[in-house]
Amino acid sequence: MARYTGPVCKLCRREGMKLYLKAEKCITKCTFERRSSPPGMQSTNRRRRPTEYALQWREKQKVRRIYGVLEAQFRRHFEDASRRPGSTGENLLQVLESRLDNVVYRLGLGGSRPQARQLVRHGHFAVNGRRCNIPSALVKAGDVISVMEGSRELDVIRGAVEATGQRQIPAWLAFDVSNVAARVNALPGRGEIETQANEQLVVEFYAR
Ligand code: SF4
Repeated sequence: MARYTGPVCKLCRREGMKLYLKAEKCITKCTFERRSSPPGMQSTNRRRRPTEYALQWREKQKVRRIYGVLEAQFRRHFEDASRRPGSTGENLLQVLESRLDNVVYRLGLGGSRPQARQLVRHGHFAVNGRRCNIPSALVKAGDVISVMEGSRELDVIRGAVEATGQRQIPAWLAFDVSNVAARVNALPGRGEIETQANEQLVVEFYAR
């Protein structure tokens, strides 16, 4: 399963915002807070106004990078979103939020989406009682995501569970600390998704 393996802090500089791709380091020692200029030698001299296409492409790249999804997979998510009733932009964010790696991240069991993705890949989670190691698997309302029995003593999982009270878990997920399991109450609406993005620009990008 392909994933981005290049320098991640550079992605934050490129997108002009913190993407929180490095777990603890993003809070304690963020590179972007020390140097936020876009990467590239001519970046400081770039003053041209971006075209409409550039804005749409940039937004698409940003959303893709926030969720850690490569181009082909992102397009598949977009096509899935466009087949659902309602606003395609909102549907797209809802599809991205319902990825298993994102749910693990939202529960705080992974410090970042890349870390959550790795935990899923290593088979530490089950969906409705069955082990699932596919980060792009989409959960739906009523699904129960649990930590596999043998993985509950892992330092990273135990530490995250103990710190549950210190972080905010979105209302569309109900985390049962004693069973180390969470239920999806409902898929989130736009108001419950805190991702800073203009999803309409992404829709316009693919509509070209
Ligand atoms: Fe981005 Fe985190 Fe690196 Fe800061 S530390 S630049 S938020 S990936």
